[in-house]
Amino acid sequence: MKLDRSLQLFEESKKLMPGGVNSPVRAFSSVGMNPPFMKRGQGAYLYDEDANHYIDYVASWGPLILGHCHPQVVEKLKEIVEQGTSFGTPTEIESKLAKLVIESIPSIEMIRMVNSGTEATMTALRLARGYTGRSKIVKFSGNYHGHSDALLIKAGSGALTHGVPSSPGVTEETAKNTITAEFNDIENIEAIFKEVGQDIAGVIIEPVAGNMGVVPMTKEFAQRLRELTKEYGSLLIFDEVMTGFRVAFECAQSLYGIEPDLTCFGKIIGGGLPVGAFGGKKEIMEYLSPLGPVYQAGTLSGNPLAMMAGYTTLSILKGNPEIYLDLERRAVMLEEGLKQQVKEIGIKASFNRVGSMLCMFFTEVEVVDFKTASTSDTEKYAVFFREMLQQGVYLAPSQYEATFISAAHTDEMIQQTIEAAGKALKKVKEL
Ligand code: PMP
Repeated sequence: MKLDRSLQLFEESKKLMPGGVNSPVRAFSSVGMNPPFMKRGQGAYLYDEDANHYIDYVASWGPLILGHCHPQVVEKLKEIVEQGTSFGTPTEIESKLAKLVIESIPSIEMIRMVNSGTEATMTALRLARGYTGRSKIVKFSGNYHGHSDALLIKAGSGALTHGVPSSPGVTEETAKNTITAEFNDIENIEAIFKEVGQDIAGVIIEPVAGNMGVVPMTKEFAQRLRELTKEYGSLLIFDEVMTGFRVAFECAQSLYGIEPDLTCFGKIIGGGLPVGAFGGKKEIMEYLSPLGPVYQAGTLSGNPLAMMAGYTTLSILKGNPEIYLDLERRAVMLEEGLKQQVKEIGIKASFNRVGSMLCMFFTEVEVVDFKTASTSDTEKYAVFFREMLQQGVYLAPSQYEATFISAAHTDEMIQQTIEAAGKALKKVKEL
């Protein structure tokens, strides 16, 4: 596989942007190679600048559940772009998307659109603080909620991959109001509430963590979290930026049968364009400006193109519930196929999967939290990743990310991926 033009472009971009990228994991440093520069996506395939093509399991880090360039999404975007790209005024399409979400998710009575997952979680915290009049928030080790200061403490995703889970530049004053708890550890969260429960404005959690690999909350833990937050008058905030409309159309909260007070969205809600959102009970949401005192705003929030991509994507998902059955079936097929290869070749690996989010950890330990996720052998992952890429399979360039199955993947592609994995795992075995 030749990557000459990508390399040339990377050399140039490195002179212009830190690390040559606009988001760290894209630099591929943790997998020890230079990144291919992508030119085009179609269905489940990505095409790079050197005319290599790959079966894509990153899906732009989750948004593209329908695959690249879904014809209906493209058509609707073409239609709307002709009418102008941004007005900074209310538009009907914002209400259409808002209505669709509110009608689909029982915990959401009102919603606000923003431009990224980071903005959604950052504002949800401010709202929780404004609403409760308290200052502390609780987050969990290995969860990633974007890069706002208060949440960049013991974070997952790129922060974890690049070894800076708690970033310099976040002041002690900010950090002291963020309490980090252990994921899936009931005793730990009980102890925190016992000690400072009256000061906790909100608890933010990825219900199915996707930023330390894939790690679901246990049902018992989820239940206890809901009870504790209710008891102490703290808001429970589900960060469904990754899981929203992914693990089920009604989101992860439907799998747990739990209604959080606030939910954050991103990725799929924007259908591949820059959108985030947060929503919840009317009483809480009405604390937001201009109705309430908590300020939040955005020049491009509710951008018509972004709203249209999100609305079209969610409408397709809602109108075709069989998509989720197909995703589940193909995800099981991939998981089972990989497990078989791992067994035959004699590699130590453990698997977590919820719907179309899958992760193979290079460890023999069952992964239930940050500590167990950290037992993964990232060197082995790097070899596996490079071998898969060579064979035309594009996985996330880090152990601590999810593999996403999209509606554009076919059984043949899954089969091809399993065969490629067999060859890649043999290389891992040689290490
Ligand atoms: N929350 C979660 C659960 C995420 O996975 C991410 C991004 N991967 C974010 C928040 C931040 O979203 P964004 O990158 O759009 O700011």
